[in-house]
Amino acid sequence: MATTRDLPSSFHLLAKPTGAVCNLNCQYCFFLTKEQLYPGSKFRMTDEMLEEYLRQYLQAQRIPEITIAWQGGEPTLMGLDFFRRSVELAEKHKPARATLQHTMQTNGTKLNDEWCSFFKEHNYLIGLSIDGPPDMHDVYRVDKGGRPSSARVLRGLEYLKKHDVDVNILCTVHAANGDHPREVYRYFRDDLEAQFIQFIAIVERDNETGFQEGDTVTDRSVGAEQYGQFLSSVFDEWVRRDVGSVFVQIFDIALAAWVGAPPALCVFSPTCGTALALEHTGDLYSCDHFVEPDCFLGNITEAPMVELVASEKQRKFGQDKLDTLTRYCQECSVRFVCHGGCPKNRFIETPDGETGLNYLCAGYKAFFIHVDRPMRIMASLLRKNQAPAEIMEIEARLQAALSRARPSDPCPCGSGRLSKDCHASGAP
Ligand code: SF4
Ligand code: SF4
Repeated sequence: MATTRDLPSSFHLLAKPTGAVCNLNCQYCFFLTKEQLYPGSKFRMTDEMLEEYLRQYLQAQRIPEITIAWQGGEPTLMGLDFFRRSVELAEKHKPARATLQHTMQTNGTKLNDEWCSFFKEHNYLIGLSIDGPPDMHDVYRVDKGGRPSSARVLRGLEYLKKHDVDVNILCTVHAANGDHPREVYRYFRDDLEAQFIQFIAIVERDNETGFQEGDTVTDRSVGAEQYGQFLSSVFDEWVRRDVGSVFVQIFDIALAAWVGAPPALCVFSPTCGTALALEHTGDLYSCDHFVEPDCFLGNITEAPMVELVASEKQRKFGQDKLDTLTRYCQECSVRFVCHGGCPKNRFIETPDGETGLNYLCAGYKAFFIHVDRPMRIMASLLRKNQAPAEIMEIEARLQAALSRARPSDPCPCGSGRLSKDCHASGAP
């Protein structure tokens, strides 16, 4: 039996007020099929459930800043009044002295002045899904009629900018944009003037259930090596000119690991289990990626949310991330930052035949090895209370020295190898 001693001091919860219902029909979306879990449902969180959720969730948090996160499906389909009520109810039920951070992940197509002025007034952080320039975005992000969505998304972004709302670009990396890292990144940085970017690998299981089953992926999925090359190319551009002005989530996570700080994302943590998902009915699941019967914890109107979060089942879900780590991962040189990645992607075999290696392993490994030298430099700058952005000057000096170095000279990077065996051979 779980006790409140088993409850983490905080946990994260993605609430889905419209369940899986969305006005778009993105072809790689892992969530649209979840509609089948609730046949006959209206897919709208009731006002009673909204208050019950917020009351239980907010009272369970023992940290000064609490995040209330909305996701879908497409949450804006609930209409603005639902979110106005959510802000009022959250103020009513929040612990004394706690501050609230509201966030929403949206496809942006429904945004207008009214939405964006509300977001600004309540300091919402908006995660906006854009997969790169329109020709790449529109390959998979289409509406129910198969029509492209980019023009509507970009109009939404204009409203967000007009009202000065904080925006985080959520870019999935897949077969259609995976070979164009610089083009995608420069589009976000130069055309959209994005400051915060998250890259999310599309690893879409090829099955009929929509659950995390089977060991084949669709041809929309990004390749593992392709993903590693994508991240490495973006990193090379970023580290030479954008450190301190553009924030890319996986680069921040890597730097934290090189500094020895705890990871801010479950995917790169040793264990997980504190990022749950709440359906419109009050059904609580272990994780947004495991909204499926095996990971159903209970309904918050039948059992207190805190008991479900602290339950043996949920603790096992989180601990399994560590306990099922392959020997190959345990012995890996970049385990300290990777931790085997998300269990949802652990369905391939290690070179010696052990099951449960992450499909993205080859990409993660290549990327984390690629960034090792600059990460060490930035970590050392941070330890000396200097800005990591100073690395841009260091890199510029290195590039100048590299251009002068002959193949038989010691490599200017200080590796101790000859230039021809180091940077002149294309090493990072
Ligand atoms: S299963 Fe993956 S996404 Fe879900 S909590 Fe664990 S690491 Fe995070
Ligand atoms: S890079 Fe691969 S082997 Fe290393 S920890 Fe990550 S998934 Fe495991």
